[in-house]
Amino acid sequence: MRDFDYDLFVIGAGSGGVRAARMAAGFGARVAIAEERYLGGTCVNVGCVPKKLFVYGSHFAEDFDDARSYGWHAGDAGFDWPTLRDNKTREIERLNGVYHALLDDAGVEIVAHRALLTGPREVSVGGRTVTARNILIATGSWPIVPPFPGNELAITSNEAFYLDEFPDRVLIIGGGYIAVEFAGIFAGLGAEATLAYRGELFLRGFDAGIRRFVAEEIGAKGVGLKFETHIESVSRRGRNLQCRFQDGSQLDVDLVMVATGRAPASADLGLASAGVLVGTDGAIPVDRYYRTNVAHIFAIGDVIDRLQLTPVAIAEGMCVAHNLFNGECRSVDYANVPTAIFCQPNIGTVGPTEEAARAQHPTLAVYESTFKPMKHTITGRAERTMMKLLVNGDDDRVIAAHMCGPEAGEIIQGLGVAIKAGATKADFDATIGIHPTAAEEFVAMREPRR
Ligand code: NDP
Repeated sequence: MRDFDYDLFVIGAGSGGVRAARMAAGFGARVAIAEERYLGGTCVNVGCVPKKLFVYGSHFAEDFDDARSYGWHAGDAGFDWPTLRDNKTREIERLNGVYHALLDDAGVEIVAHRALLTGPREVSVGGRTVTARNILIATGSWPIVPPFPGNELAITSNEAFYLDEFPDRVLIIGGGYIAVEFAGIFAGLGAEATLAYRGELFLRGFDAGIRRFVAEEIGAKGVGLKFETHIESVSRRGRNLQCRFQDGSQLDVDLVMVATGRAPASADLGLASAGVLVGTDGAIPVDRYYRTNVAHIFAIGDVIDRLQLTPVAIAEGMCVAHNLFNGECRSVDYANVPTAIFCQPNIGTVGPTEEAARAQHPTLAVYESTFKPMKHTITGRAERTMMKLLVNGDDDRVIAAHMCGPEAGEIIQGLGVAIKAGATKADFDATIGIHPTAAEEFVAMREPRR
């Protein structure tokens, strides 16, 4: 039997690739992982982790204000961007080290170079050519910058984490996760932030009631929202970036950030030499076990473009490791994947939107509640929270929970378990609330709104 240098060669040490590599090594496989940039991938370096730290940082502006109503006098609050940026970077560097140690401890060989497929079982990396019985492509995705004159003056989320100077005025183009999260971050940290989205209402694909609600909340916090607005050009005028829109309007800012989606990072990997097919959108098609058209080459995470979410990539990576080295036949169940958007207030969601659920379940009952969070009963802040439960009238199952409010992600994670387990509205009603919390509202909604 022909021997190979490795049982598994993983290309890309992001969340999915690292998990697959560690787990495969744990099952006794000889594993190497190639990474040209940073250990931990987008999530750890220029995504989820630093973003959440910035979200925490940006919320202090309100916290200092609110503290006064609770009797605290903290003096004049001031914000220093380099402190937040550099403390964040230190934490990311610590995490890079943790990832290194995790891979080392698992016995995975780390190759700090770009890898190129040179044949179906052959990889060229760091000046040598190695062979592998199986190959896993986990190269993630990269921000898309739409074509418009002056787009080279715009940054993406990659650069937003390392700005030399914090802007006074910023324009964010896009209306998805990253655009609304960064609109909140920039506004909270003191910038005049404007979000321009091409459609009627941002966050397409999320529950319409929640989208309308969050637009009101974000708008009330001072983020300028320009919907049905298409960027025409950006040009530099001295210190200003002059942004022109197709409706003839104009905006001068210090910084333009595009957050218009992320494309699968499948180019220049040598996929053709290995015979791996790629879709027109750059995504690598795989079967339900993450196998590409080449039987021993697998792909997971953003590069297969199913759900661009870290925990999904991790789950996919674990399936590959289990299937290859533990004799199993696992695949990820993509139904009811909970997710959160860390805009301010947060959105947490699991299950279909009301619109999609109604199309499938004519007997749908919609429970809905909006209220002022208890914390703000004495701060005078007008921020409100919204919660929705969708119940299939045929069998009383709760099929979705949506929330916009503080810690929505933390709350919806638990409801995700209940919904995955098939909980009924009667189960929710029979659950005693934790008082006083916002979460208890989810077990106290008695009358359907619709
Ligand atoms: P999204 O796919 O979420 O949103 C892209 C946005 O850009 C949409 O509003 C889209 O509009 C708009 N858009 C696309 N192309 C253009 C264009 N040519 N001109 C103008 N607008 C355009 O992408 P993001 O970049 O926000 O984030 C990438 C992915 O990363 C997300 O899908 C998500 O899966 C993941 N992510 C997850 C986070 C989390 O879990 N909290 C946080 C951040 C990112 P339209 O709707 O009209 O198509």
